[in-house]
Amino acid sequence: MDENIENNYLNLILFSKNLIAESLMEASQTDSTEEFPKETLRKLKLSRIFSAAFASEMGGENLGLIPGSNVAMLQILKNIGAGNLVMGRVLEGHINAQLLIDQFGTNLQKKNFANDAIAGHLFGVWNTQANDGTTLRENLDENFLLSGAKTFATGSDFVTRPIVTANLEDGSWQMCIVPLDKICTNTDPSWWNPMGMKASRSYKMNFENAVIPQENILGIAGDYYKQPYFSGGSIRFAAVQLGGAETLLNETIKYLRELNRTEDPYQKMRLGEMTILISSGNQWLKSAGEFLDQYMINSSKENSEIFLAHANMMRTAIEKICTKIIVLCQKCVGARGLNKPYHFERIIRDLSTYLRQPAPDVSLSEVGTFALQSDISLDNLWENKI
Ligand SMILES: Cc1cc2nc3c(=O)[nH]c(=O)nc-3n(C[C@H](O)[C@H](O)[C@H](O)COP(=O)(O)OP(=O)(O)OC[C@H]3O[C@@H](n4cnc5c(N)ncnc54)[C@H](O)[C@@H]3O)c2cc1C
Repeated sequence: MDENIENNYLNLILFSKNLIAESLMEASQTDSTEEFPKETLRKLKLSRIFSAAFASEMGGENLGLIPGSNVAMLQILKNIGAGNLVMGRVLEGHINAQLLIDQFGTNLQKKNFANDAIAGHLFGVWNTQANDGTTLRENLDENFLLSGAKTFATGSDFVTRPIVTANLEDGSWQMCIVPLDKICTNTDPSWWNPMGMKASRSYKMNFENAVIPQENILGIAGDYYKQPYFSGGSIRFAAVQLGGAETLLNETIKYLRELNRTEDPYQKMRLGEMTILISSGNQWLKSAGEFLDQYMINSSKENSEIFLAHANMMRTAIEKICTKIIVLCQKCVGARGLNKPYHFERIIRDLSTYLRQPAPDVSLSEVGTFALQSDISLDNLWENKI
């Protein structure tokens, strides 16, 4: 990869790492369903990270779009998650939307929405819904009308350009980009009473005949679930989760040092286990980025299967790593450490909540299916031979 591009990515990674300490403080001050980490968002908006997942000709950095950029993308997400899992979740949605626009948008849409990101519009992807989900109906004037509700609409009141999915009349699943600063919606915060991730404001969002201009329809019906990028995208939320677990390790070390509890053999043993877990998580992260790089170089059907199986392994492994870190951290710091103002109890609540991502059972069983049924040699999953 070109040295300048590589340096750009290194700068973005450094920026995200330098944000951790302040972001951690803001996370503890905004741990409420009515709050939002505004200051960290303000800083992100001022950085190149905010429009990075658009192509360079649109004013972005090609992050997550070209081979060699994917490890950097995952490291940035990890660092933002290390400061505040809420902001990690928000940035993940923002980046996911940009990647979808790059994948399925027209040139004009790419240009216009990249300009929106550069101007500070926050993006998101709102796909989850309950029984009263969304529909899109074509209007006489060739615009569309969006009705129904989305649940878990992260960043409510701050996201102004969510990609919202909805049923067309024939039952197919269509994406549209909703200009929330231009239409009326009804936000329902009472729906959001979670154990953690409170400030993600993942409220319920209701639409009633909201006018969606034709130029805000993204791709064609069915594009949203196209593989391998749909399930393969799980490596991004896993990176954010790993950031939270890494901070639990770093804060545990700090806590034990402050209490002068560094010579106890049992604490040393737990710290050893935690360090191995985080180190493994980072190896998964790096290899997931590299597998995605390789898939971008050669997008054959076989490589798609390999990338997907690896992504499923990575997210499952990181979920297990985070769960183990939570248990070990609690044993290390005890009840005293779980008191505020220490960060442990909040991060544990946030991480436990954020670990509940879609279809964990399916994801693991697909790894088993790959192992049992694929003609591709399993070596491909760890030797990165794509
Ligand atoms: C903080 C946070 C922010 C979020 N932000 C967004 C967002 O911005 N946009 C968005 O679209 N979504 C968002 N989500 C939703 C997220 O993507 C998942 O849809 C959601 O977290 C899954 O919730 P769940 O664990 O209740 O899922 P469930 O699907 O209910 O899974 C719970 C368990 O049941 C199992 N299971 C699933 N289906 C079945 C079945 N049919 N029979 C038996 N068992 C089953 C699962 O494997 C799992 O073990 C967010 C979630 C969180 C926690």
